[in-house]
Amino acid sequence: MKSRTLVFLTLSLAFLVGCGARTQPTGLRVAVIGLDGATWNLLDPWIEEGILPNIERIRREGFSTGLLSVVPPLSAPAWTTAITGTNPGRHGIFNFDHFDRERFLPFPATSLDRKTKAVWEYLTESNRRSIAVAIPLTSPPDSLNGVMISGFPHLSESGFTFPPELEQELVGYRLHKYGEYLMDEHEDAFLNHLYAVRESHGRVGLDLYRRKDWDLFWFVFLGTDKIQHFFWKFMDAEQRGDVDPATAEMYRHAIRDFWIDIDRLVGDFVEATDSNTVLFVVSDHGFGPIHREMRVLRWLWDEGYCDINPTRSRVLYLPHYGGELAINRKDRFPNGVVAPGEEYEQLMSELTEKLLAVRDPANGKRVVSEVFRADRIYSGPHLDEAPDLLFLPEPGYFFGRGSPMEEGGTFGVPSYTFSAFHDMRGIFLVRGPHVRPGRGEKDLRLLDLAPTALRLLGETIPLRMDGRPFEGPFEESLEGAAPIRFADRPIEREVSDRRIGEMREKLDKLQALPYLR
Ligand SMILES: [Zn+2]
Repeated sequence: MKSRTLVFLTLSLAFLVGCGARTQPTGLRVAVIGLDGATWNLLDPWIEEGILPNIERIRREGFSTGLLSVVPPLSAPAWTTAITGTNPGRHGIFNFDHFDRERFLPFPATSLDRKTKAVWEYLTESNRRSIAVAIPLTSPPDSLNGVMISGFPHLSESGFTFPPELEQELVGYRLHKYGEYLMDEHEDAFLNHLYAVRESHGRVGLDLYRRKDWDLFWFVFLGTDKIQHFFWKFMDAEQRGDVDPATAEMYRHAIRDFWIDIDRLVGDFVEATDSNTVLFVVSDHGFGPIHREMRVLRWLWDEGYCDINPTRSRVLYLPHYGGELAINRKDRFPNGVVAPGEEYEQLMSELTEKLLAVRDPANGKRVVSEVFRADRIYSGPHLDEAPDLLFLPEPGYFFGRGSPMEEGGTFGVPSYTFSAFHDMRGIFLVRGPHVRPGRGEKDLRLLDLAPTALRLLGETIPLRMDGRPFEGPFEESLEGAAPIRFADRPIEREVSDRRIGEMREKLDKLQALPYLR
């Protein structure tokens, strides 16, 4: 049976490649509402309780399951994967920061660093219109056939729309600030900021949605991620024991109340959705509480991988936080000390084994759940820019940085202001024409959203895209309405060296500001 299916798929692929026009409109439109960091761990019980009636409705009328993020499950690589249908080795975004190996300094990634096309760039080639609102790492905005409002992070307070003059019309539109600067006793100010952003993004997003002059509408709401990072500790204050009980009481329901409000926003979108629109509600990664921290740089010191001069260390820890290591290879870093080949392979195996064996001395628990070699999970021309090893934590753990100079050991309570962090399993919901109602048995992949959108819109899917259209959520009727058509369509975007150079200069100036750190 399996081989027959395969033969059939191969034949139909051969038949479909290269025949037909690039675009054959299907009469369908595609809307994606991204709820950053949404997790079934929170939403399931609240749906049960009946406090999220609009999300519950989409679940009842449509198809739902889990959605697997990318490694590392961070908004920058995850949303970039979602909008391009390519893996980080091809689109070149691995984190919110890049690392300049010559100068041995991190610098912020921007949309100009994205090396493959987003869905709206394919649609622009076909003279079709897109609206993209507040998608992370789309700053500065692309020029497209349609409208774009750039998403977090913002490099400045202006210049965040395409066309540029739109900015003047967006009265009261608020940009997300860096929540990492939420300090204790500033909870109210932070909540006010999140609600102000929610109000203005919801208002502007719905207004653009209702105008209906689009084929693709893609809106991301980031506040859900932000509030979960900083307010989770008030939900599980008893287990943690490090939160003032009176403060915990005050903010115990902050995340829940925010979700009730977000559910209303989702309801407004559903109400404004016409019968030709396939509406997706997705998150870029999941979420869970963190109670303990492993300080990775400190661990590298303990294990003897570091040198007093950090540029001479065998193993480098370059991000602000998270599970990733770079090997200081002679062929990749100016002061590299590790030879590619046998020495490198030996070190990679040794680190993998050691990481998987790490135990938290406080309770004897495993800390690292999985270790990945970049060359096994990524492919494409930017693989060499990736960290060499990536690893994910066991539930409840966070990978911080730490340093040998600091007080405190290699393990401890989280030293960042986060009390919850991302995991790999986001949410997936879809409702609309040709959708098969029900629950999916298997999780889908975020990587497959872009090719699915192209398919629904009657666009050919580039063969070199890594993602493939979802099949599970749709009825067979979709095969007739929107057949899957592959083509040898270029996926690379062209960003001039001049623009990239100008951006680097701008970033160098901004780096001097604590704001971006
Ligand atoms: Zn986050």
